[in-house]
Amino acid sequence: MSHGWGYGPTNGPEKWCDGFPIANGPRQSPIDVVPGQAPHDPALKPLKLKYDPATSQSILNNGHSFQVDFLDEADKSTLTGGPISGTYRLRQFHFHWGASDDRGSEHTVAGTKFPCELHLVHWNTKYPSFGDAAGQPDGLAVVGVFLKIGSANPSLQKILDAVESIKFKGKQTTFAGFDPKILLPPSLDYWTYDGSLTTPPLLESVTWIVLRQPISVSPAQMAQFRSLMFSGEGEAACCMQDNYRPPQPLKGRKVRASFK
Ligand SMILES: [Zn+2]
Repeated sequence: MSHGWGYGPTNGPEKWCDGFPIANGPRQSPIDVVPGQAPHDPALKPLKLKYDPATSQSILNNGHSFQVDFLDEADKSTLTGGPISGTYRLRQFHFHWGASDDRGSEHTVAGTKFPCELHLVHWNTKYPSFGDAAGQPDGLAVVGVFLKIGSANPSLQKILDAVESIKFKGKQTTFAGFDPKILLPPSLDYWTYDGSLTTPPLLESVTWIVLRQPISVSPAQMAQFRSLMFSGEGEAACCMQDNYRPPQPLKGRKVRASFK
């Protein structure tokens, strides 16, 4: 493959049904964020997320996660500010999670794993399309939000209620009028670094924006995530869990914090 990735062995807790992706580039994701080694950068601006619920379209089981897709033909749901310049449009959001509550997030904080991580994927409108942007060093900006076990999260439940109808790979249903802003924590303090997609083709095109403050998820809600299937209807059942990539080497990259 031209992008230099392939599928690794299927042993270990990180396995997917068909193995987990490996790559050896200089800016791979996720990483372990070590707060003591991520200095405050006063030049970093606050994040500005403007989401229009009318752009929410559908929810899809894509065989490695499930995603909510957004209309991105105009600047209606956008990310500006933060570490990026220009305007990035929301394309989709999805989650990664574990088979149990002791793992599941892709990023970790000083080695601490969370049970789940939300990724809001945006693309740089200086390029003509998501597909073009995904191959550029400044093409994508992904906001990562940790989920932490606590009380049931009503914002999350709106999504999980739709999950029952997309249990199998390839299933899709309409998901209109959803405002992703309700998923965000009260504080938008973040860490940022240059990285990659965490699923094939692992393109090194992502400005990562990882929020410090987690949102809550109940154990029953985590069980709903784990009721999804990697497999298609009528195939051998394979539960969708441990669909995260483990932290990759930092290779000299700098992680910066928007806060002191
Ligand atoms: Zn992701």
